[in-house]
Amino acid sequence: MAEPEGSGLQVLLHTLQSSSDRASILSILQVLGDLLSVGTDRRIRYMISKGGSEALLQTLVDTARTASPDYGVLLPLFRLLAKVGLRDKKFGQKALELEALDVTLILARKNLSHSLNLLHCLWALRVFASSVTTGAMLGVNGAMELLFQVIPPYTRRRARIIRAATEVLAALLKSKSNSRRAVNRGYVASLLRLHQDWHSHDTANSYLPIRRALLLCLKHIATLQSGREAFLAAQGMEILFSSTQSSLEDRSLEPVTSVALQVLRQCYPRSPLPLVTASSAYAFPAPGHHPSEPPRLLAEEDFEDDGDEEEDRDSDSEDAKEEALEPTPGDDVHPDANHLHIPTAASLKQRRLDEDQSSRGQEREAVPETSLLSKAKMGRSPVHPVSKNGPGTNPHPHAQPNGLGVDPSGKEVLDLETLLQEDAWDMDMTSCARTGASPPSSTPPGGTADGIHELLQTHPQHVPFHDPFVYLAKARGTKSVADFKTPAFPDLWGHCPSHSPEPLLERKRGIQRVKVLEDIRRLLQPSDVIDKVVFSVDEPWQGTAPNCLWFSSKFESGNLRKAIQVREFEYDLLINTDINCTQYQQWFNFKVRGMRAATPYRFNIINYEKPNSQFNYGMQPTMYSVKEALRGRPTWKRTGYEICYYKNHYRESMAVTGGTSRKCYYTLTFSVTFPHHGDVCYLAYHYPYTYTALMTHLDLLEKSVDPKTVYFRQEALCRTLGGNACPLVTVTAMPASASPAHLEQFRQRPYQVVTARVHPGESNASWVMKGALEFLVSSDPGARLLRENFIFKVIPMLNPDGVVNGNHRCSLRGEDLNRQWLAPSAQLQPTIYHAKGLLYYLHSAGRSPVVFCDFHGHSQKKNVFVYGCSIKETLWQAESAVGAPAVSEDVSYRTLPRILDQLAPAFTMSSCSFLVEKSRASTARVVVWREMGVARSYTMESSYCGCNQGPYQGLQFGTRELEEMGAMFCLGLLLLELKSASCSRQLLTRAASLLDAQDGALDQQLRRCSSGGSGTVELDDEPPCLEEIDYGPDSSSDREGSCSELDRQIREWASLQDQDEGEEEEEEQEQEQEEEEEGLELGRRDSP
Ligand SMILES: [Zn+2]
Repeated sequence: MAEPEGSGLQVLLHTLQSSSDRASILSILQVLGDLLSVGTDRRIRYMISKGGSEALLQTLVDTARTASPDYGVLLPLFRLLAKVGLRDKKFGQKALELEALDVTLILARKNLSHSLNLLHCLWALRVFASSVTTGAMLGVNGAMELLFQVIPPYTRRRARIIRAATEVLAALLKSKSNSRRAVNRGYVASLLRLHQDWHSHDTANSYLPIRRALLLCLKHIATLQSGREAFLAAQGMEILFSSTQSSLEDRSLEPVTSVALQVLRQCYPRSPLPLVTASSAYAFPAPGHHPSEPPRLLAEEDFEDDGDEEEDRDSDSEDAKEEALEPTPGDDVHPDANHLHIPTAASLKQRRLDEDQSSRGQEREAVPETSLLSKAKMGRSPVHPVSKNGPGTNPHPHAQPNGLGVDPSGKEVLDLETLLQEDAWDMDMTSCARTGASPPSSTPPGGTADGIHELLQTHPQHVPFHDPFVYLAKARGTKSVADFKTPAFPDLWGHCPSHSPEPLLERKRGIQRVKVLEDIRRLLQPSDVIDKVVFSVDEPWQGTAPNCLWFSSKFESGNLRKAIQVREFEYDLLINTDINCTQYQQWFNFKVRGMRAATPYRFNIINYEKPNSQFNYGMQPTMYSVKEALRGRPTWKRTGYEICYYKNHYRESMAVTGGTSRKCYYTLTFSVTFPHHGDVCYLAYHYPYTYTALMTHLDLLEKSVDPKTVYFRQEALCRTLGGNACPLVTVTAMPASASPAHLEQFRQRPYQVVTARVHPGESNASWVMKGALEFLVSSDPGARLLRENFIFKVIPMLNPDGVVNGNHRCSLRGEDLNRQWLAPSAQLQPTIYHAKGLLYYLHSAGRSPVVFCDFHGHSQKKNVFVYGCSIKETLWQAESAVGAPAVSEDVSYRTLPRILDQLAPAFTMSSCSFLVEKSRASTARVVVWREMGVARSYTMESSYCGCNQGPYQGLQFGTRELEEMGAMFCLGLLLLELKSASCSRQLLTRAASLLDAQDGALDQQLRRCSSGGSGTVELDDEPPCLEEIDYGPDSSSDREGSCSELDRQIREWASLQDQDEGEEEEEEQEQEQEEEEEGLELGRRDSP
C-alpha cells in the first residue's frame, strides 16, 4: 500500500484517539467508514496493523464514560468496531485490556428498551464473543443474564434485536465456562421453552435465524456432559424430536432442522457396543503372537463418558475457577438407553463360566444343528416342514405362496420348499465331513454328492470355470479357525454375472436424517422395540425366536458375530473383528432365512470404524438368493435401498482404551426387500470370492488349457499359519518345438509377477485376478503373444487364511501382511516371505520382472487406478530426492497406467499416484521397487463401488467389469511391450498382423496409446455429501461465526436506514420509536 495513504491513516487514527471535539471525531468516523466500505478486507487488515482496533476501542471507552454518552458518536463507532473487530484475531484481547467489554455491557444494560442503541451494543458484543476467552469474561460479567432479558418468547416485535441477542448468546456458549454457568442456572430448560415457543408460533418461518441460534445455544451446551444431562432431564430429546419430526419435509427449515438433529445426536446417551469382548470372537494361537491379556469384557459399569468432545478450541481461563462447580463425570448411560441386550455383570460371569466349559469354535446354532445332526443320522429321510416350531416354521402362513417346488415346465421336482426351509443344504454339507477330525467313514451312506447331483440335474446350471463337485472336493482341504463345515450355497453353486452393471444408487434426499430419527425413536417411543439377540457367535443361542429372521455366518468368509432384532423388521448387526484383533470391521458376509416377501427389512451394521464410506455415494451391498439360483439365476446382485452411513452413539469402552480417547462407531444402514418368501439369502459387502472358490477355479483353468501349447502349473508357494496352501501359478507358452533355439527362447522369456488379495476383504481384487488368469490361458491372440513372450508368476491369494476366516485386513496373527515386506519371517508371515523370496531369486538371477503388480480393492474412491513409485516423489529420502528438480528420472513407470487409461473402460489415470510415502515403505509395491529394482512396481486399486468417468460412468461394478479389468491389465502388459524399445521386430510384425486380423479396435487403441498420455485433470475423491455425515462439535457445517453474516446484517440495517422503512416494518418501527424515546430518558437517568 502506498505510503501517503498509510501515514494519512495513522494521522486520522491518532486524531481520533486524542481529539475531544465531537465534530472532528464524527468526521473521522465518517471518513473511516467510507474508506472501509469500499475495497477489500486487505484495507481493513492494514488499518488493524496500524493500531486501528485500539484507536476505535479507546474512542468507545472515552465516549461511553462521559456523563451522558453521545450516541451520535457511539452508533457509527459500534458499526466500525464490528467491521474491524471481526477481522482482527486479537480483538477480544484488545477489548479486554482497554476495558471496552465493561462499557459495552453497561451501555447495553442502560439501553435495554432502546432498540437502536441496544442493537449496536449487541453487534459489538457479538464481535467480542467470537474469542472464547473474551466470551468467558463477558459471561462472568453477567452478559448471559442480560441476553436472557432481551430474548422473549415468540413476538413479532424487535426481531432484529432478538436475533442479534440469540446470536451473541450462541457465541458466548462456545466457552465451556459459560456453558457450565448456563447449566447451573437452569438455562437449558429456558432455552428449550424458548425453542418450543418460537417453533410453534413461527408458522410462517419468518424468524429462522432466531430459531437456529437458540438451537446453536443448546448445541454448544451439549458439548458438556453436564449439559447433555441437563438436556435429557429437561425432556430435551422429546421436545426436539417432536419439533424435528413435524418439520422434516420442509426444505426451507433446513438451517433449523440440521442443528436440531445435531443436538439430538449429540445428546443421545453413549453406550458401549453390545458385545462381550472387543476382540474377535475367534482366537488363533498364532506363533509369536502374544495375546496381551485375557480379553476384557465390555460392561456398562466401566462405561463412563470420557468427555472427549468437551474440549474448547481456545484456552479458557475461566475453566480452572469453575472446575469445582462441574459435577464429577458420571455414567453417561441414560437409564432409558439401557439396551436389553447389554449384558449385566451377572450374565457376564455366567457366560465366562460357560465359555470355560466349552471350547471356542465349537459353538453351534443349537437348534438347527441338533435337528440337522439327527436328520443326518437318519440319512435323507423326508422332513416335516410345518408342524415344528423350529427354524423352518413359516411364521406367516398367510403370506403368498412362493411357487417353488415347481420347475418352469410345471413339473414337480424336489420338495425345494422343504429343502430350503429345513436348511437341508446345510445338512448335506454337514455330512460332507472335512479331513482331519472326522474319519472318512463318517460320511453317511448315499452322501452329499448324490444330493447335489440330484439337485444339479433338476436345476441344470452352467457357470464357466466353476463346478460344484470340484468345489466340494476342494472344500475338504480348506482349514478355518472356527472349523466351518457348511459351504455357503452361492460359493458351492456358483455365480453368473448379471448382464449389465447396476447404476449407482441415487441417494434419497434426507435419508440419513430419517434413519437417525428412527434410531432416536427407539429411546423415546420404545413400545415397538423388541431388542432381542437372535444370533450370536459368543452366546450360543438356546431358544427359538418366532417371527424373526435366522442368521448364520459359519461358512467360509462369513463373519457376522451378532444379530439383534430391534423391531419386527429391523436388525442391528455386529460384524466380527479380524482374528486376534480388535478392529478392521468392514467386510461382511452372512446368511438369512425365514423372511417374508415384499416386506422391507432394515439392517444396521453398527460397529463400522471408518468415518465415511462409498455407501454414502451410490454403492449397494450384494445379495444372492438361493431360490433365484435354483430358478436358473445364480447371481450375486447389488441390492438394498435407503442406504446411508453415519456416526452412531456407540463408543469404545474405557476398559479397552485404558482411558485414552475413545473410538467412535459408524452405522451402515440398508433396507432389503427379499425376492421370495421363505428364501435363503446371502448378503455381503461385495461379491464374495473365497479361497475354496479360487482353488476350484485354478483346477478348472488347468483342465481347460491345451497342455501342448499352454504351460499352466499350480503349486503351493507355502503353507499358511492356518494350514492352507498358498497357490503359485505359472503361465507361459510351451516351447514351439524341442529345437535348441526354441528351448532357449522358452528359458529366456522375461517374467511378469502379479499378486492379489493380501487384504482378505478386498474380494474385488480376486475378481480382477480371475479375469486376468482366464484371459492369460485363453485363445485370444493377445494372450497367445503374452504367453509366447513372458513367463507369468501369479500368486492369486497372498492371504488365504484371512479370506477363509472372514477377516477384512489381516492374517491370523492380526497383522496387515502388506506392511510386512521389509523383513518377513518364514514362520510368522510365510506367504510374504516366500513371495519375496521368489522375487529375490529372480532379481539375483538378473531377471527381475518387467512389471510387478499387486491387486487391491479401494473403499473410498471410484474407478480403477494404480499407485506406482517415482523417485522424484519419494517423500522421505531427504536430500537426494525431495524437491530436487535436477534429478532426472526415467518415467517409464507412467507408461502402463497411460496404456490402461486408454484401454480399460474402468481405469483412470487421473486417480493414479506415484508418491512414495514413508508409511508405505513396507508394502509390496515399494519393497519390490526399492530392493528388487523393478521400476514398474504397482498396486492396482479397484473400487468396491463403480465408476464416475469413462464408459462405465454412473455404474457400479459387477464381476464382469472387474474381470474385464483383469483381462485389460494383461493386454496392457502386451501393449507396454510393443511400445518399448526392447520389443523385437518380429513380435511387432506378428502382433500387427494378429491384431489387424482380429480386432481393428484394438489396433486403434494401440495407436491412441502411442500418441501420448491422458490429459485428464485430477478429480476430488467425492463431492461433498448432500447431508453432513459426521456430527459433534467438530462438525464443519457450523457457520455461525462467519464474519460475512454479521457484516451482512449491519449492511442490511444500514440500507434500511437509507430508504424509507418497508411497510411491514412500519408498525414495529413506530413501536420502537416510542421505546427509543423512553430509552433515552432511562439512559439519561442512569448515567453516572
Ligand atoms: Zn488393500
